[in-house]
Amino acid sequence: MDFGWSEEQQEFRRVAREFAQREIAPYVADYDREERFPAEIVRKAAELGFAGGIVPTEYGGSGLDYLTFAALIEEISRTCHAVACALTFPSGLVGSSLLRYGTEEQKQRYLTPLAQAEIFAGAGVTEARSGTDVSDMDTTARRNGGDYVINGAKMWISFLGAASFFLTFAHLGVDERTGRKRICAFIVEKDRPGVSVHPLKNKYGFRPLETGELVLEDVRVPVDALVGEEGQGFEIAMNSVESGRLGVAARAVGLAQACCDVAVGYARERRVFRQPIGKFQLVQEMISDMVCGTESSRLLTYRLAYLKDHGQRARDAASMAKMVASDNALHAATNAFQIHGAYGVSDEYPVARYLRDAKIFQIVEGNNQLHKALVAEAHLGMR
Ligand SMILES: Cc1cc2nc3c(=O)[nH]c(=O)nc-3n(C[C@H](O)[C@H](O)[C@H](O)COP(=O)(O)OP(=O)(O)OC[C@H]3O[C@@H](n4cnc5c(N)ncnc54)[C@H](O)[C@@H]3O)c2cc1C
Repeated sequence: MDFGWSEEQQEFRRVAREFAQREIAPYVADYDREERFPAEIVRKAAELGFAGGIVPTEYGGSGLDYLTFAALIEEISRTCHAVACALTFPSGLVGSSLLRYGTEEQKQRYLTPLAQAEIFAGAGVTEARSGTDVSDMDTTARRNGGDYVINGAKMWISFLGAASFFLTFAHLGVDERTGRKRICAFIVEKDRPGVSVHPLKNKYGFRPLETGELVLEDVRVPVDALVGEEGQGFEIAMNSVESGRLGVAARAVGLAQACCDVAVGYARERRVFRQPIGKFQLVQEMISDMVCGTESSRLLTYRLAYLKDHGQRARDAASMAKMVASDNALHAATNAFQIHGAYGVSDEYPVARYLRDAKIFQIVEGNNQLHKALVAEAHLGMR
């Protein structure tokens, strides 16, 4: 596997790193504390083509390959994974569903402005009762004349404040032949009557993402709000899991790298017992574990990107990258916190934020127990 970074890719990465240091680093602690989504920063990033991701240029995107996309997300996440998350949206569930299943009109109207961060979107998949089992959702849709009427509620939905529309899912009842719910994907604009959003306050982590409940009460949408065909919703949701997991893995690698950066800096400077703490072998062990874990995560993430760039099926590789990178991010954040001693507790250093955020990476985009099972089942020939 030859990643063969071109000069152009390396330059793109360097520009992303400098952008993050200049435009994000001075503000991230404040907007994280305020639980505010920094839309203005994402818009600035979009001016450099960072929101366009893998979306083709004809739809306002940047037409990146997956490897460059992963490197971009990693670099931004090294400073703030929430900004990086917003930059993954046009390439993730919302954008790639519109790209693959949307009509030309849907692409022009929603995908193009999304890829340029002129508007933001949310992905309304998870529900309170069914959780990880998306196929068992309760939200319903029924045909009524030229419209669909949607009823239900989605939970843990991000970008509730910033989004002007949601790609969300509802079912038309159970298919008697298969016994499965006939799930459909819909574009639902936030200003439609019956749509209300309720962000949770004082979340443990991922604080700038405005996550909470999306309520859909007798929401009437026209038939052209349907993405793909009736009953195709589950396929649509699953279609983008590999790129969704690539985005999360790259964000987790960026966060883990940030932990390595601050831990190394602190271990060099902090002196107790008349020597830098980096001279203690047990501190060195923590740093070595962090560096090795982060490099392994990075390689699995790039491998996933490489497989996608070469048109290969990557379900297994996606689970591995997401699981290993998020487990490592938590491990790295725990060690970075430990190396900072009491100062880790203080707001003066970013390690408490890293630790809070790192935990959540193990839960989103499929919990890590699910991924562990998927990897095992694939290798046991059960899938
Ligand atoms: C900050 C944040 C932002 C989010 N943003 C979005 C968003 O924008 N859009 C969206 O749709 N969703 C979003 N989610 C939801 C997220 O992606 C998860 O799908 C959701 O949290 C999982 O549902 P649950 O919490 O009900 O977990 P449950 O399904 O109840 O699972 C609980 C635990 O049970 C175990 N478990 C569950 N299933 C299995 C299995 N198959 N095998 C083994 N163990 C299992 C795991 O340990 C798991 O952690 C977000 C969540 C968070 C925390």
